[in-house]
Amino acid sequence: MSEEVRNIIIIGGGPAGYTAALYAARAGMKPLVFAGYEAGGQLMLTTEIENFPGFPQAIKGPDLMMRMRQQAERFGAEIQDFNVTSVDFSNRPFKITTDWGEYFAKAVVIATGASAKWLGLENEQRLIGRGVSSCATCDGAFFKDKHVAVIGGGDSAMEEALYLTNHASRVTIIHRRDKLRASQIMQQRAFDNEKIDFIWNTVVVDVIGEEKLEAIKLKNVKTGEETTFKVDGMFVAIGHKPNTEIFKDWLEMDSVGYIIRKEFTMTNIPGVFAAGDVADARYRQAITAAGMGAQAAIDAERWLGEIEFAEEQAAKASQ
Ligand code: NAP
Repeated sequence: MSEEVRNIIIIGGGPAGYTAALYAARAGMKPLVFAGYEAGGQLMLTTEIENFPGFPQAIKGPDLMMRMRQQAERFGAEIQDFNVTSVDFSNRPFKITTDWGEYFAKAVVIATGASAKWLGLENEQRLIGRGVSSCATCDGAFFKDKHVAVIGGGDSAMEEALYLTNHASRVTIIHRRDKLRASQIMQQRAFDNEKIDFIWNTVVVDVIGEEKLEAIKLKNVKTGEETTFKVDGMFVAIGHKPNTEIFKDWLEMDSVGYIIRKEFTMTNIPGVFAAGDVADARYRQAITAAGMGAQAAIDAERWLGEIEFAEEQAAKASQ
């Protein structure tokens, strides 16, 4: 805990947070970063990153995050793996409460990213970790020579399915439409993989199993027919929701909960900036998040410079 007022606190330890920290540190702002217990963000759950420029042979997600973190630290960023539990943006300096106490900052960058969505079925939640997962990289190895289902039709679902073929004997992608949302290259890889098959126009309506997952109940959305499908594992890959719960009393958000940026990366509260997936429902890429992190740090530095200059002038005028 510290009564000291920091120039800038960055909340979030993914590509946006670490890049904001790098830029703020290099600007001499001595940033404090709360990276959270899941520091590294979603890239910690991915395998090879093939589309981050500068790594022609691909790089593993956790390696990329470690490098970003080290690069920010090299220039003086202080990074704590605490979770922020609440914020108070009613006055400046802003108050940030963590599990380990209260902190104060003149400017804040929010880069808390997004988390995997679940189907919302009662038995799905009960069987998480016992056959139900949202992370193939974390749990795939438990399904050696087993049959698993992947739910979703986007890039995440293709990536999860392809990764799971390293372990499972068969991977069935279950999608609610008859067309995938995934990029062409990812679709093609999935279609070309002999271990992967597809069930179209189908949703999961229940998850069956007492101690562990045994089967899932499927419903064809065209015919209404329900069937029981035996699987050993179910990986849910249906997209993400922004991690904005603790900011909802303060910041303007869209209907899904993505933070709305008002002026460049600044939110409706001057001095509070947002970067990365938390404010980006459209691109959601590591590279775009990193870019936005740089923007937010630059915006915060300029804003702080202007505010402090104006305050100095006002103080002089009143003398
Ligand atoms: P996404 O593109 O939003 O796809 C979500 C998929 O889940 C869609 O196919 C959607 O169906 C389905 N879905 C959503 N809610 C559902 C529900 N309640 N029940 C059943 N199905 C449901 O999300 P994403 O795949 O996580 O990708 C997010 C972003 O990250 C994208 O921009 C993607 O390109 C990027 N990404 C890239 C890579 C890569 O390049 N290697 C890997 C992962 C993610 P509909 O199609 O019917 O809407």
